[in-house]
Amino acid sequence: MIVTENKSGMICSNLSRDESGELCFAGMPLSPLAQKYGTPLYLYDEARIRERCRTYLGAVREAFGDRARVLYASKAASFRRLYEIMREEGMGIDVVSRGEIYTAVRAGFPLERAYFHSNNKTDEDIAYAMEHGVGYFVVDNEEELYAIDRLATARGIQQRVLLRLTPGIDPHTYAAVATGKVDSKFGSAIETGQADAITRLALSLSHVALKGFHCHVGSQVFDSDVYFRAAEVMLSFVAHMARTEGFLAEELDIGGGYGVRYVAEQPEIDIAENIREVGEFMTRRAEELGITLPVVAFEPGRSIVADAGLTVYTVGTVKRIPGYKTYVSVDGGMTDNPRFALYGSPYTILPVAADLPEETESCSVVGRCCESGDILQENVPLPPDMARGDLLACLTTGAYHYSMASNYNRIPRPPVVMLADGTSYLAVRRETPEDLVALDC
Ligand SMILES: *Cc1c(COP(=O)(O)O)cnc(C)c1O
Repeated sequence: MIVTENKSGMICSNLSRDESGELCFAGMPLSPLAQKYGTPLYLYDEARIRERCRTYLGAVREAFGDRARVLYASKAASFRRLYEIMREEGMGIDVVSRGEIYTAVRAGFPLERAYFHSNNKTDEDIAYAMEHGVGYFVVDNEEELYAIDRLATARGIQQRVLLRLTPGIDPHTYAAVATGKVDSKFGSAIETGQADAITRLALSLSHVALKGFHCHVGSQVFDSDVYFRAAEVMLSFVAHMARTEGFLAEELDIGGGYGVRYVAEQPEIDIAENIREVGEFMTRRAEELGITLPVVAFEPGRSIVADAGLTVYTVGTVKRIPGYKTYVSVDGGMTDNPRFALYGSPYTILPVAADLPEETESCSVVGRCCESGDILQENVPLPPDMARGDLLACLTTGAYHYSMASNYNRIPRPPVVMLADGTSYLAVRRETPEDLVALDC
């Protein structure tokens, strides 16, 4: 993977420290924000989100001309303001549920630019998406294809679809986010002949308009070879279908997955350069295979929003167990960030007030849930005098945090606050105890 050199000395370029040493995000010191909105607090740097969208859109335009799309994978973070930003930036979106579709509707997002995923769309999901004019369905399996044809027939429409295929590639990332292997709950495998079969079925159904194919090999991918291999398998399949069925795919969606930097040891991927290389590769291979290159879609989630986000916590109990370790508890935990518990994900956690001193203490930063696995990170170097009331910042929390947050232990979800041009505004307010009982009958 081609990587970007980072000159800021911080793991993300939108982080800095002011004269007093306080940590700033998007140019704003964190303690006044913590005071104004309370903690735990999700912050987003709006300019960074927009910059990432523009990087992708510019890169695909350069690599593929007008024959390309960028779809933001909503599951990374989904709330109304974010869809407004995606709309303003000219992005497409991928959605996986009625909830995401409804949120996009409420943001006035043009749903003809939406792609509907999921390995198990219910009839209600399918009807709902059709009713709202969702542009494309990314079809997982034959059963779904029959259901779409039946419901499209009832509505008297032709539904555009892509077929999700598994190219049989192992992206060497966390098992839970590796999705492109043959043995996967997602899609139809090329290797087993199921991809051929579902393509023939799609072509035979009168209310399904087959537009092309989709694959997504995994998430938090740092190996560029994965994308060349996926593109190769998918383009070969496109050529194979052109040859055997006379079907030329108009669109080829090669998924998302570019990795982001959670800790200093991870590189920052140069998205523009990597897409340029993928573009060159796909253009050349299409030529060699004798096919017109379909419109190519990328579906990034994490790499659009991850380092545009940061979480601020207040320290509570600090427990030193002589001969073992020191536990620093914060006022959030697996309810606002389940990723360490799920995947053992690495994170950078920094003191807000001042930079780390020479001498640090290695701490476990843990949450407030009744669960031993409620850990944000182990072996975090912190000032040896961390105490109740101090602030900590967990970096790179813009993707798969708010969207994965829960009310375990009836803990209210933190608010989402956007930072833009030196000011802050609420995108999602903090949940209240009243919200927690709102559904109880
Ligand atoms: C999760 C997912 C993405 C986005 O993955 P990132 O790693 O967040 O870029 C894209 N497409 C599909 C189908 C996904 O499931």
